[in-house]
Amino acid sequence: MEESCLFCKFATGEIVPAVVHETERVLAFKDVNPQAPTHVLVIPKRHIATLNDLGPDDAALVGELFLVAKQVAAVGGIAGSGYRIAVNCGAGAGQSVFHVHLHLLGGRRLAWPPG
Ligand code: 5GP
Ligand code: ZN
Repeated sequence: MEESCLFCKFATGEIVPAVVHETERVLAFKDVNPQAPTHVLVIPKRHIATLNDLGPDDAALVGELFLVAKQVAAVGGIAGSGYRIAVNCGAGAGQSVFHVHLHLLGGRRLAWPPG
């Protein structure tokens, strides 16, 4: 838990976001400023600032983040139509909340390459 971290407050329940899925180690909730009809953030409950801070011991946790995202996509009905999982690492890539999160985006046509 990092005192000043918004997503840590979501993870502990100090602030309650619009949760769509939860496991012991992972939380998935709706993005407050959605960029697509489905825009869900999937986070580890443990504070990890960026992808650069992951270690070998985090391999299973990272796998779980993807499995939760896949499940949220299926329950949300976008598994067949297509979706994107994105992670911004560092300010230069657009990361604004420094607690690792997967963006799950879908429900509309997604352009490539991203901006
Ligand atoms: P980043 O820019 O770090 O990749 O993504 C951060 C995401 O967190 C953004 O998509 C932003 O809309 C979302 N976000 C920021 N503040 C809040 C909040 O208070 N609640 C929720 N649900 N999402 C937030
Ligand atoms: Zn945090």
